[in-house]
Amino acid sequence: MNRFEGCGYEKAWSMAEKAEKKLTESGIFSLMEKTALMNQRKVLRAFQDHRVELRHFYPSTGYGYDDLGRDTLDKVFAQVFSAEAALVRHQIVNGNHALALALYGILRPGDTLLSVTGKPYDTLDQIIGLGEDRDEGSLKQMGIRYEEIGMLPDGQIDLDRILQRISEGPVKVVYLQRSKGYNWRRSLGSQDLRQAAEVIHQADPRVILMVDNCYGEFTEEIEPTEVGINLVAGSLIKNPGGSLAPTGGYIAGDSSLVEKVSYRMTTPGIGAEVGSYAAGYQSFYQGLFLAPHVVLQSLKTAALLACILEELGYEANPKWNEKRTCIIQAFQLKESRKLISFCKAVQANSPVDSHVVPEPWPMPGYQNDVIMAAGTFVQGASIELSADGPMIPPYTVYVQGGITYEHGKLAAIGIADSLLSSPEESGVR
Ligand SMILES: *Cc1c(COP(=O)(O)O)cnc(C)c1O
Repeated sequence: MNRFEGCGYEKAWSMAEKAEKKLTESGIFSLMEKTALMNQRKVLRAFQDHRVELRHFYPSTGYGYDDLGRDTLDKVFAQVFSAEAALVRHQIVNGNHALALALYGILRPGDTLLSVTGKPYDTLDQIIGLGEDRDEGSLKQMGIRYEEIGMLPDGQIDLDRILQRISEGPVKVVYLQRSKGYNWRRSLGSQDLRQAAEVIHQADPRVILMVDNCYGEFTEEIEPTEVGINLVAGSLIKNPGGSLAPTGGYIAGDSSLVEKVSYRMTTPGIGAEVGSYAAGYQSFYQGLFLAPHVVLQSLKTAALLACILEELGYEANPKWNEKRTCIIQAFQLKESRKLISFCKAVQANSPVDSHVVPEPWPMPGYQNDVIMAAGTFVQGASIELSADGPMIPPYTVYVQGGITYEHGKLAAIGIADSLLSSPEESGVR
């Protein structure tokens, strides 16, 4: 036994073997592999169609006029997402920034933003202008109205209420979040988005449908922009960066909208034509190339974890054999000490900062203490194995990422071990 192994390690190891067998024999792993194959083909073709060459990886400086690396990367992304245009930029600092750029880019004073998957991701509160005294610079301060429609209890989009609302007066943007994020709900699939887009555009073709695509990219063979969604945004330190992109965000969709967003990103008139990157673009291209495979590694890791933890009696969302449309796996651990040991096990089984011990802390912007584990190469990159959870019942942990399935499997064994071993006996403290 080394310091990472508790008394449950051998049992955990054999549970992982059994779970892997179950996932293989049920055909779940091969379905995921097929999705990765089709996405790899899509990405490969985009590289070939745009004749990606070594010179596209070269650095640029200053204004970055005629930066071929930047412009071609935009086009490759656009093709992969079957979109008319895309903006892929290191200047977009994270997913939240990408979403904000898109919203500020397309909304004007007097417009209405309607979120139809309930309250958007927490970090958007201050952008929308939700809550007291948090208005500075918000959409609200600029005269943009915000309304919200929750999802139905069975996890479907409430199309009836949306249609009702649209019939009552103009809605500029209907906003959907593809992934459950940090909520205990169903993540949306391309079928849900297709149906929503059809019904809403039939009711009012002027409505702009925008999707927060974070964590969803390459989990299915079809992206939202292929089923009638007008604009998507996401983070490059999640799925589409393939774990190699060091930073950045992207926006893809209808060219008229992407242009508006580019005017917000730089200035009207300049848009996407300016912006250099002295570090060069290789990691973005290579990351995108790897992304379908890396997402597969995360999906397999998530399913393996679900299979093991369900066997141990924990409630999983999604369940081990449910279709996955994002890389997040959630578990209700029921006890605070279990949530803490889960996160400690993720950290202890990481390649970086494995000696660091995560503790719950009052993170700014959250109502409750939160515990987080991330031993990642790229700071905070959640395409790499990471976990977090708020310290409130039912002590739900959200776990995502894993850039190799082998690492994911070892971590899953470590997690199961820590849940099996009592805290005194576990090597992970
Ligand atoms: C991660 C995430 C965001 C915000 O992205 P950051 O890169 O953390 O700013 C927004 N929405 C969803 C669903 C996410 O998963």
